[in-house]
Amino acid sequence: MVAVAMEKMPRCAYLHIPFCRRRCYYCDFPVSVVGDRKHGDNSGTIQKYVDTLCREIQATPATGVPLQTVFFGGGTPSLLSLAQVTQILETLKAAFGIEPDAEISMEIDPGTFDRQQLEGFLQRGINRFSLGVQAFQDPLLQVSGRSHSVADIHTAIQLIHTTGISNFSIDLMAGLPHQTLADWKETLHRAIATQATHISVYDLIVEPKTPFARYYQSNTAPLPPEATTVEMYRQTCAQLTAAGYQHYEISNYAKPGYQCLHNRAYWENQPYYGFGMGATSYLYRRRLTRGRTLKAYKTWVQNWENHNVELPPPDSLQDQLLETVMLGLRLAEGISLPDIAQKFGEEVPKAICRSLQTDGWHHWVELTTADNQLLSLPDDPCHPLPENATHLRLQDPEGFLLSNSILASLFRHLSVPA
Ligand code: SF4
Repeated sequence: MVAVAMEKMPRCAYLHIPFCRRRCYYCDFPVSVVGDRKHGDNSGTIQKYVDTLCREIQATPATGVPLQTVFFGGGTPSLLSLAQVTQILETLKAAFGIEPDAEISMEIDPGTFDRQQLEGFLQRGINRFSLGVQAFQDPLLQVSGRSHSVADIHTAIQLIHTTGISNFSIDLMAGLPHQTLADWKETLHRAIATQATHISVYDLIVEPKTPFARYYQSNTAPLPPEATTVEMYRQTCAQLTAAGYQHYEISNYAKPGYQCLHNRAYWENQPYYGFGMGATSYLYRRRLTRGRTLKAYKTWVQNWENHNVELPPPDSLQDQLLETVMLGLRLAEGISLPDIAQKFGEEVPKAICRSLQTDGWHHWVELTTADNQLLSLPDDPCHPLPENATHLRLQDPEGFLLSNSILASLFRHLSVPA
């Protein structure tokens, strides 16, 4: 018997700020290139976009539950002026309310802010910053089309420290063209030296229709071979955990108490608002995506205001199960077996484990108890699961490295009982 769960209310809002000084060669995000001219209040394009974004927020029905996290992502949100950040936050507050202790994050890029601006962001309530670094070697930044140098990174870090910001994250990218294992070790070493409280590490994916897709082929020189990128992943795990970071998600590391609450909501498959060009929201089990160009987004907002947007059908229970497993297995603690049983049926946790055992993946997963004791998954699918097992997780790092294959195998077998 499948329990009917109470609909969860969204407590998180993502705001897409789609402006960048130039487009990085690997990027397929919905962004609009504004070059190096003046930004913020001086840019009519950005102001018009902010006005449209605020109209979208105002036209979105509130639930009465204030926001616990807000995330300014991009693009390059640090191209916004202080007045524009204030305008957006005030609109959000008026529409939904923001908890006094909310996590309010902003992605910032080296070379796009000064001390006055950082202080202004802090005064307006931004309390977590995420700096787009990617690499600590100028040739790698250049080959990736980044708009900043290593010197700009050091200036940005210095500004962060002198402004008194302690809660900041650094984004790094592994698997860049010409990147060696030695480069990668140096990048990790220098990232740790910044005293960032959080480090995100993404593997390069060569996306179609990007300049990288024209220049390179996956796993072919000058891209590092798979054996090197696998070693980079292991090295990341070893170096960052030795420096006191917890590997709490497949690509994310945090000092104790500094996990990103906003992103956790995605991995826990919680509902969230998404505002802005190309953004997706997940409300009432419906994923709704906005237009990916400024023009298409503007038209979308007009239609939204006129109640003229066709809503997609809600996720089926089967979709929800697959999403819950796919996202939950990204987390270090993995998926909660009692929660899955309650939502999708008593048999489902057993079916998940049986499928892993049958396909031989049981060596790369672990069961844990409520007090985090480790249990192993028996080899034999007919063997009953330990009764005190509460979570199923991928091993770190070897299970995480195989996550795509493990998930593909799980997805072939999993279904919600009728
Ligand atoms: S700064 Fe980020 S969003 Fe902008 S083009 Fe580069 S990767 Fe894409």
